[in-house]
Amino acid sequence: MEGCLFCRIVAEEIEADVVHSSDHVVAFRDINPQAPTHILLIPKEHVESARALRDRHGEALAELFQTAAHLAKSEGIDKSGWRLVTNVGSDAGQTVHHLHFHLLGGRSMGWPPG
Ligand code: AMP
Ligand code: ZN
Repeated sequence: MEGCLFCRIVAEEIEADVVHSSDHVVAFRDINPQAPTHILLIPKEHVESARALRDRHGEALAELFQTAAHLAKSEGIDKSGWRLVTNVGSDAGQTVHHLHFHLLGGRSMGWPPG
């Protein structure tokens, strides 16, 4: 989608610290990390948010969750714990309108989130 920041990262028009890339999924480090590990996982296909998910996205989503678990291991946070978060809409604080999951870990986190 034209002008979408994360589509531009997928297209390699904008540089990112990519830690994983496959046919369906890209994962890269957040530019403004909120925890020692803060990685964003996105489908390569432009999907605006979890609100816009359809049955056909099932395969990409399954891969995305498996990739998160795999990255948690390689980041060394598998045992200490990690959080996978997606923000939908303004109350949740979504700023980039291309579906993404924040993989956070490496420190103790509060609940409920702010
Ligand atoms: P959200 O607020 O849930 O929409 O999350 C958007 C995230 O994208 C924020 O955590 C930003 O720090 C992050 N972000 C914005 N621009 C970039 C970029 N060029 N590379 C990596 N992360 C980015
Ligand atoms: Zn996009």
